[in-house]
Amino acid sequence: MDLKQYEFSGEKKFEIKKFNTADTGKFKERSEAETIIQDDINLMKDSQDKLYSENREGILIIFQAMDAAGKDGAIKHVFSGLNPQGVDVFNFKQPTDEELKHDYLWRAQRHVPQRGKIAIFNRSYYEDVLVAKVHKLYLSQVLPDRCKDDSVIEKRYTQIKNYEQYLWENGITVIKFFLNISKDEQKKQLLQRIDDQSKNWKFSQSDIEERKYWDDYQDAYEAAINETSTPICPWYVIPADKKWYSRYLISKIVLQHLQRINPQYPKLAPEVEQSLSEWRKTLLA
Ligand code: ATP
Ligand code: MG
Repeated sequence: MDLKQYEFSGEKKFEIKKFNTADTGKFKERSEAETIIQDDINLMKDSQDKLYSENREGILIIFQAMDAAGKDGAIKHVFSGLNPQGVDVFNFKQPTDEELKHDYLWRAQRHVPQRGKIAIFNRSYYEDVLVAKVHKLYLSQVLPDRCKDDSVIEKRYTQIKNYEQYLWENGITVIKFFLNISKDEQKKQLLQRIDDQSKNWKFSQSDIEERKYWDDYQDAYEAAINETSTPICPWYVIPADKKWYSRYLISKIVLQHLQRINPQYPKLAPEVEQSLSEWRKTLLA
């Protein structure tokens, strides 16, 4: 399976209009992918256990998407088998008053995982080059004039790239997913939030308001992805009309990173290892 076609590391350009959001790769039906997803989740589980025991490298997984693209479901489905002690999920909503008084990376930095753990960001500091760009939010914030000119978003792309390099150089792998759905599929998903009582709680009027800015968001995503894709921290653009296929790709890609990191259970110091048989005898006595 060639995952490379979904990976953007700065060489090829991401063109959102040419991207097939309904792609299902080599599969015709969901059932063909389902057992593979389960096997990959099990492999992830083994690897995460080692990552946690080893404490050597942390993983930050970012999910960005238009509303109702399946971020929540993907997180629930793909990461549900992992040891909860080693995983934290953070939702990035509209910034609080306190958060707005700080630089935009402040609230993210507080949740960057310690080495050994996995942190999942449901939205992230990328909102500050997405919704902030679409609505020019920086203009209405209390900021010095030099932080409000037209180059603010361009500068943030560079800041984010530098920040991700900083994380990489400090033992954190950042994996960035953009779940890319079509406008039609979003309509279907939003209607379900209205029609299905168990999904009513997910519905927000802002989903309808923001949908009016669909084209602006598409441009903002395309620009953000092209500007912040690097070899050490690529973007993965995931076709998300078929949720099962996006889950298949997400688990494959996370697994690929875990295999690269190749965590191992820590080896005991030789003198401790020698003592093991003594301790066994003590316990059995
Ligand atoms: P879903 O995709 O299921 O609709 P969601 O991630 O949109 O879930 P919501 O609680 O509906 O969750 O919305 C969170 C909102 O917070 C989003 O509209 C997002 O754009 C907004 N948000 C996040 N970060 C920022 C930010 N830095 N500045 C302004 N708005 C932000
Ligand atoms: Mg929403």
